[in-house]
Amino acid sequence: MRYPSAGPDDGPDALFGLDALETTAPGTRGTGEHGTGAGRPPEHRTCFRDSPAARRLLPVRTVFAEPAAAASARGRQILARFPEAEVIEVDSHWRIPGLHGNEGNVERWVRVKGETLVLGEKKTLATRPNGRSADWIAPGASNGCAMACAYCYVPRRKGYANPITVFTNIDGIIAHLARHIARQGRKREPNQCDASAWVYDIGENGDCSVDALIGDNTADLVRAFRQWPTAKASFATKFVNPDLLALDPRGRTRIRFSLMPPADSRLLDLRTSPVGDRIAAAADFLDAGYEVHFNLSPVVVRPGWQEAWTELLRHLDDTLPGRVKRQAAAEVIMLTHNRELHEVNLGWHPRAEEVLWQPALQQGKRSQNGALNVRYATRVKADAVRTLKDLVASHAPWLRIRYAF
Ligand code: SF4
Repeated sequence: MRYPSAGPDDGPDALFGLDALETTAPGTRGTGEHGTGAGRPPEHRTCFRDSPAARRLLPVRTVFAEPAAAASARGRQILARFPEAEVIEVDSHWRIPGLHGNEGNVERWVRVKGETLVLGEKKTLATRPNGRSADWIAPGASNGCAMACAYCYVPRRKGYANPITVFTNIDGIIAHLARHIARQGRKREPNQCDASAWVYDIGENGDCSVDALIGDNTADLVRAFRQWPTAKASFATKFVNPDLLALDPRGRTRIRFSLMPPADSRLLDLRTSPVGDRIAAAADFLDAGYEVHFNLSPVVVRPGWQEAWTELLRHLDDTLPGRVKRQAAAEVIMLTHNRELHEVNLGWHPRAEEVLWQPALQQGKRSQNGALNVRYATRVKADAVRTLKDLVASHAPWLRIRYAF
């Protein structure tokens, strides 16, 4: 029996294992093709986030809190969940000395992610157009993440020791979304995001499944979207949180399990649920009322990548039940990287950089803030996208690709 990361000394190999979830949330996993715990009524479930296993995943010791956020209903709910944590008042969830930025924190990066929370209020509520994965990017109810994927772009804005910031003004976020959705009216033309609903990405800067270990922001958003017949929430995740099975989304939330070959994931997706567990959970989430899609991302070009993806696609084809396949779709996203992140990673996880940083295959682009972002060179990327699409067509032909870039 493998257990999830056990606290401050968990290393980069410490994973959130679904087998550990089973010890505290019996019945929430499938048994065979049609097996599922999703049909169990919520009152008979054990709440995973209150379990010792969840506490080991997020052994919160310090909460930095804006005063108004700490005093809010959501803030008080979260603080009550971590009564032993030291609460430190801060003027702003941005620019917390000693927490954000890289200096002095590289060594403790992964530890800081699990031991620290930030509570703040989202001051600017804006919904941005997207058009690729979703029609709109909703104002996130959090940013930062307790996991530590080596390629993650989320820390780029807030520094690398970037634990979860929970925004406590969730009522304001939901009221903003209600107004935005009402203004759109019905979607008149199908597009790659959805045939009939306006799709709102609610997790651009974090992982909503992990956020649900801390508080009810994800639950509030899922419940809000089920009342809005013209809209659908969508978020990508690398963590299987069985508590989400009880939220009754009624088809109005799309969960996108991110997948990559397990060997790449073990090297790059640190602290996440194993890829096999994400795939094994798909039917349970469908049966619980979610739309279940997949993100094939990031695609990392390295020796043997085609064979590894072939194996993954065959595994999907062999193990997913027909009802999951019939509604599934996928996004394909090629790796992008960043020089600053590369340099940070060299300080704590240099093996990851052997596959992520490939100057012979990549080209750089200076962003507006002066950072050097890299992506696969045009020809390399075009060839890789074509290859992956061909692999999907051969090994998982039921998997519609919504877009690839
Ligand atoms: S799970 Fe997502 S947000 Fe969290 S570290 Fe990984 S890529 Fe970043």
